[in-house]
Amino acid sequence: MGQPQTDETCQCVVCGREAVFHFDPTIITPQLKEAWGISDRLAEAFNRKESMFCSNCGCSLRIRRLAAVLMQTFSEISGLSCKSFAELLENKEFRDLKIAEINACGALHSYLKDHPNLHYSEWLPHTEPGEVYAGVRCEDLQCLTYSNNFFDIILTSETLEHVPDPGKAWQEIFRTLKDGGYHIFTIPVLPSQPTTVKRANLVDGKRDNLLAAAYHGAWGSENMFVYTDFGMEQKSAGLGVWRRLRESIIGAHRGFGSGSRYR
Ligand SMILES: [Zn+2]
Repeated sequence: MGQPQTDETCQCVVCGREAVFHFDPTIITPQLKEAWGISDRLAEAFNRKESMFCSNCGCSLRIRRLAAVLMQTFSEISGLSCKSFAELLENKEFRDLKIAEINACGALHSYLKDHPNLHYSEWLPHTEPGEVYAGVRCEDLQCLTYSNNFFDIILTSETLEHVPDPGKAWQEIFRTLKDGGYHIFTIPVLPSQPTTVKRANLVDGKRDNLLAAAYHGAWGSENMFVYTDFGMEQKSAGLGVWRRLRESIIGAHRGFGSGSRYR
């Protein structure tokens, strides 16, 4: 084992403030560590990715990296660069973009919700796609209710592994992205696993487990169920990865017209 992870002080790319980033060693549950068959050291790396919470805005390391890729993407589109996500959010050109946040991107949601063209949704069991439940729009990534060529940017963070058919989800993402739009995302990857492994399928509405059930977060919670363990081959799958933590792909890939990659 190397040095144990501890808190750090640094400038936060989301809020722009000098802040303490708090490490939480308890996020990866013992059950998940066992299901993945990972070492203490790798579990610590996952805990680090999922914590290091900013003392000011609450964003985790993963969410800060996602925000950094979003900022980098906007900079490439517009030629304008910002020092923080909070600053970017004030930019008129950025505020004109049509953005989908499909499942809240952690504490970044408290910033994104002030964007005037944000389409935020959650997946909830027992709701219909497009339904508004308790004030929140519900969407299923496998059958989005948005029209073709609708979004400039689609954000998903550690969501695709929970979708029964990630292939359908990519298809829907490309269908609803405008030509030249971006999907900016994170997916967890197991560095010890060369190829993607399906843990379960959904057949006629019933789950068919291929491996022991695994959950990210609250063990046994339906919306935390893991259908797919992504492997390292995803790195070279043409996803246009810009930044990567060892145990997560954080990147952006670009749409080329409605569903064109899948025709
Ligand atoms: Zn912050």
